Amino acid sequence: MRVTETRSAGRFVWFYLLLSMLFAAATLALWWGAQYWIGQLPAGAANADSDSAPIELPCIILDPGHGGEDGGTVGVDGLLEKNVNLHLAQLLYDQLTLAGVPVIMTRTDDRMLYDPAADYRGHKKMLDLRARLDIVRDTPDSVLLSIHQNAFGQAKYSGLQVYYSPHHPDSARLAELVQSAARQYLQPDNTRKTKPADSSIYLLDRSERPAVLVECGFLSNPEECAKLGDDAYLGQLSTVLFTAVCEYLADSGAGA
Ligand SMILES: [Zn+2]
Repeated sequence: MRVTETRSAGRFVWFYLLLSMLFAAATLALWWGAQYWIGQLPAGAANADSDSAPIELPCIILDPGHGGEDGGTVGVDGLLEKNVNLHLAQLLYDQLTLAGVPVIMTRTDDRMLYDPAADYRGHKKMLDLRARLDIVRDTPDSVLLSIHQNAFGQAKYSGLQVYYSPHHPDSARLAELVQSAARQYLQPDNTRKTKPADSSIYLLDRSERPAVLVECGFLSNPEECAKLGDDAYLGQLSTVLFTAVCEYLADSGAGA
């Protein structure tokens, strides 16, 4: 019995040693794993407890074009541009907010932005555009994304088209990301090129911040007009814009 007990005790010691070694190996593996993943995080997240500055993201100004008595373009089936713009901007607002990107909308309801108490007669449209520009100017480190719908005399034209402000070098980069995201994820046959804005596009002509205007589709094209009235398609369009904005922020070194 003594021999058996000694052997049993010996087996237990070896078993305990083996278990301890396995536990130590597992602890080391977990530690190395943790170090690896901490290394993959953006610097601000990895050093959340240190004195390093938090990541500062630019504020995206979403500008649903038109509103109120300014309906914008009217679709072949009566769809109003101002409503498509606002609906799409609200979808994009939700996506960006969920991703932690600061967002401001120039309007959240169906109205123009002139001051009704001021003498606006004959100047409604200009006062409306100036108010939108003031929001951009008053928001530090902002990026303007103005949302519109297109129209043309001939119904055959379709597809997303991006214009950019010539006054900031990042405008063309954001425009290219939006145009290429549309081609890659939504409109493979869209061969349109981004275009610098001239003085006819007030917001882009006057903005000193990165600024683009996206003509998301042609309301004069029956097929595209029907899509722009469809919630599911607007969700796809919103995701295209969201993807481009995230790529823009990531390429800016913001880590978003
Ligand atoms: Zn418009």
